[in-house]
Amino acid sequence: MEAFLIEEGRATEARGPGVGVVAERYIVCTGAIHTSALLQRSGLGGGRVGSGLTLPHRILVLGRMPDRLPPGHAPGSYLVEGTDWTISAADVGPAFYAAHSRGDAATLAGVLGDWNRMVPLWVTVPEGGGSVGLDRFNRIKVKRDEHPDTLSALQSGATMAAKMLLAAGAVEVMLPCDGPATLESDRDADAFASRTLTPAELPMVCQTPQGGCAIGPDGVVDETFKVHGVENVYVADASLFPSSAGPNPMVPVMALGELLGDQLLY
Ligand SMILES: Cc1cc2nc3c(=O)[nH]c(=O)nc-3n(C[C@H](O)[C@H](O)[C@H](O)COP(=O)(O)OP(=O)(O)OC[C@H]3O[C@@H](n4cnc5c(N)ncnc54)[C@H](O)[C@@H]3O)c2cc1C
Repeated sequence: MEAFLIEEGRATEARGPGVGVVAERYIVCTGAIHTSALLQRSGLGGGRVGSGLTLPHRILVLGRMPDRLPPGHAPGSYLVEGTDWTISAADVGPAFYAAHSRGDAATLAGVLGDWNRMVPLWVTVPEGGGSVGLDRFNRIKVKRDEHPDTLSALQSGATMAAKMLLAAGAVEVMLPCDGPATLESDRDADAFASRTLTPAELPMVCQTPQGGCAIGPDGVVDETFKVHGVENVYVADASLFPSSAGPNPMVPVMALGELLGDQLLY
């Protein structure tokens, strides 16, 4: 769906390319980015819709162990107290790695051919601001705020992840950045920590956009998940979060859907 037709404070139709849906009530759950865009295209949600998007930034650090690892070897997750970042087990496969890697073909082939010796860890900075808007053709425009602090937090998180992997016996650690990106000792890790990186040198991933349609009296939806200013449009997805729920928001998103379902049915 692309937008609602609104008449006298009610949505009378949801429209998409070549399709229109008429219903009593509409629940939008198209994800943080698309829901923000859909409401903007419909003229709903006021000026705040699309603002407050959070894009937790993460980078993948790979440790190559000396021997093949048994299936299900993923390590646990670690919250590093007193820092702005987390280190967690990365449940990613070689295809995901290949899609995000910047290495040359030979290096990539070496990593993929040796995947069963690799331990992948995510380093995540949970808070990362941004916004969703529309361009003059009504296409979605996502803006990510660049923060020097995010970069340095990822860099120190990656340094610690590298040292953890080396201490656990990794023969080398691969970082996703340009330049010298293979570390074999704590000394290499310290040298990486003292490098001045630019955002372009460190490819970051965001799998968990959140916010944009914050819940609350000054937000986009009220406490019953109904969009302010319209009678019959509700939101139930990650766009509701007023701030980042962290890098793994799927369960809270499912709980929000269940809550809204109960509320509307009973
Ligand atoms: C690779 C990857 C791994 C992840 N791993 C985890 C994890 O391990 N744990 C965790 O908690 N979270 C994880 N996440 C994040 C989690 O999947 C999301 O945070 C969560 O699914 C968000 O829920 P949502 O309902 O807001 O949006 P989504 O789940 O994205 O649902 C939106 C749906 O709307 C549809 N849609 C979009 N636009 C339109 C439109 N205009 N009209 C009709 N339909 C539309 C989409 O096709 C999609 O089906 C991961 C995400 C990715 C990408």
